[in-house]
Amino acid sequence: MQSFEFVVPSSLNEVCTLLAAEGDACKVVAGGTDIVPALRENKLVGVTKLIDIRRRPELRGIKRTHHGLWIGAATTHSEIVNSPQVQSQWSLLAEACRQVGSKQIRNLATLGGNVANASPAADSIPALLCLDAKVSLLSTRGKRQVALQDYLQEKKLASKGWELIEGFVLPEPLPNILTKFIKVARRQAMAISRLSLAVVIQLQGDQIHYARLVPGAMLSVTHRLESVEKYLMGEKLSPELSASAAKLACESVIAETGMRPSFAYKLPVLEGLIKKVLDQFQEEVTHG
Ligand SMILES: Cc1cc2nc3c(=O)[nH]c(=O)nc-3n(C[C@H](O)[C@H](O)[C@H](O)COP(=O)(O)OP(=O)(O)OC[C@H]3O[C@@H](n4cnc5c(N)ncnc54)[C@H](O)[C@@H]3O)c2cc1C
Repeated sequence: MQSFEFVVPSSLNEVCTLLAAEGDACKVVAGGTDIVPALRENKLVGVTKLIDIRRRPELRGIKRTHHGLWIGAATTHSEIVNSPQVQSQWSLLAEACRQVGSKQIRNLATLGGNVANASPAADSIPALLCLDAKVSLLSTRGKRQVALQDYLQEKKLASKGWELIEGFVLPEPLPNILTKFIKVARRQAMAISRLSLAVVIQLQGDQIHYARLVPGAMLSVTHRLESVEKYLMGEKLSPELSASAAKLACESVIAETGMRPSFAYKLPVLEGLIKKVLDQFQEEVTHG
């Protein structure tokens, strides 16, 4: 394993200054569950300094604010799963975080690390997108807040240089929403998603008033399937609607990326999952 200097910073300012000064030679480490295996395999060529951000108090914790819920970037998946606030009002995120690795991994792995990695298979991302999460970012240029979707796009284009994720803002959820996160993986524990799906709908009367639908591990940059969301809005839940929305989702994925080799397996699974989730919502509404 390559050698490196390990820095425990005394402020976030120090983190940003180091990152600006040292560029690619320097990386922050939070839980280390992605970065340590990469170091062991000598994949971080040129990295000579690691900055430990896990214990910075500004990056930790979950609290209610007048903008919704604040989750610090160095908050672990276990802390999110066990948070009564997340469980009661943002349960979709708790469901997704519960699916990450094993208990040992969830005790170390942070939400900031999961998002910063921006892997298409990251389990928290579909749930955060469905919940309209914003990302709070810090650098020597200052602080800014962007929609998670924009952050993921910028990350892909590497258009904004290096920024530290300070935390996430989840707006207050709408009343009477139905939510679901499903993950399909090789084994139940310790496996990266082969496919996942996060869905939120809100009913007004018997009509869908609001919809969010995000497949994970499907697209190079995970994003909402807005055409499907629009298609659902104003409609009543029914087996026919579930089937046609599921079909439309597959068509919109193919229209965006073309047919990939993995789609022979993934598209039928995606179609089945969407149908199943919407049918379950109808069942819940009908039978309580
Ligand atoms: C055995 C195993 C199983 C796993 N299973 C899953 C799974 O089921 N689902 C899943 O989604 N992931 C899984 N992972 C991946 C990993 O655990 C997650 O991506 C984790 O959330 C990363 O967080 P971390 O704190 O450990 O990140 P680290 O390893 O500390 O950092 C990861 C990357 O993010 C950067 N980073 C960290 N924090 C910040 C920040 N605040 N701002 C900017 N950049 C930052 C680091 O510089 C690094 O590039 C698994 C990993 C292992 C080893």
